[in-house]
Amino acid sequence: MTGLLEGKNVLVTGAANPRSIAWAVALAIKKHGGSVALTYQAERLRRRVQSLADELGEAPLIECDVSSDQAVRRAIDELAELMPVLDGMVHSIAWAPAEDLQGSFAQTSRAGFAQANDISSYSLIATAREARRLMTRGGGIVTMTYAGSWRVVPNYNVMGPAKASLESAVRYLAADLGPDGIRVNAVSAGPIATVAARTIKDFSGMLELLESHTPLRRNVTSEEVADATVFLLSDLSRAITGEVVHVDAGAHATI
Ligand code: NAD
Repeated sequence: MTGLLEGKNVLVTGAANPRSIAWAVALAIKKHGGSVALTYQAERLRRRVQSLADELGEAPLIECDVSSDQAVRRAIDELAELMPVLDGMVHSIAWAPAEDLQGSFAQTSRAGFAQANDISSYSLIATAREARRLMTRGGGIVTMTYAGSWRVVPNYNVMGPAKASLESAVRYLAADLGPDGIRVNAVSAGPIATVAARTIKDFSGMLELLESHTPLRRNVTSEEVADATVFLLSDLSRAITGEVVHVDAGAHATI
């Protein structure tokens, strides 16, 4: 343990199971001395995420469906009772209808586009707005993105524009919240076999291709994404905001 996050309280969204990137982030925050609160999307996930929260010790656990502004506000109100000051928030949430994650991009449905952008991009704005109320001594917000935002990746389809919107929101939020000492950054992770990733058609083909084409000749792990997230939450990155950091074994440079 390095104590990089000693004394810091961090809200981590998006831990649904032990494979979630958010779970690796929660473990890394704890390892570096921080305190973690977790949110879960819906009642059907509560028991599973409760067992993760138990592993962390006394981690507050709060329901938060980011498709509703009221639910996000309620979640932060509830959190305020248990963790009155926040030093960080990790947004690790994305969703798109499975049928819009394959086939012809031109067939993307209007509803699927709206839902993907709502859950995967607008939710950063909604959660940052509410978390800001508790970030009274400044801090860091980190979201998870993917290079499909700026490069065409087969079958990533509707998530591409959603991630482009998310990365733009990172820059606008950084400008807006910077005067309050709140930094906003994104980690652009290489592909990792999580539940969300597995909904993308031929995901394992992508992993295989990257093994031979990244500069480091391998894929990345959730733990590596989590370590970069800890850095972006910590004071080591105190002058970094509005940035997208690639944690992808160098794939963005070669593919
Ligand atoms: P995951 O399935 O473990 O996490 C996705 C999370 O989003 C789940 O916890 C789910 O409950 C939550 N979620 C979906 N809709 C929600 C809603 N309406 N309200 C609240 N929560 C909701 O998968 P993951 O791969 O850990 O994904 C986390 C983030 O990392 C996503 O933004 C994803 O796009 C990003 N990312 C993943 C990869 C990868 O290859 N796995 C690569 C780059 C970026």
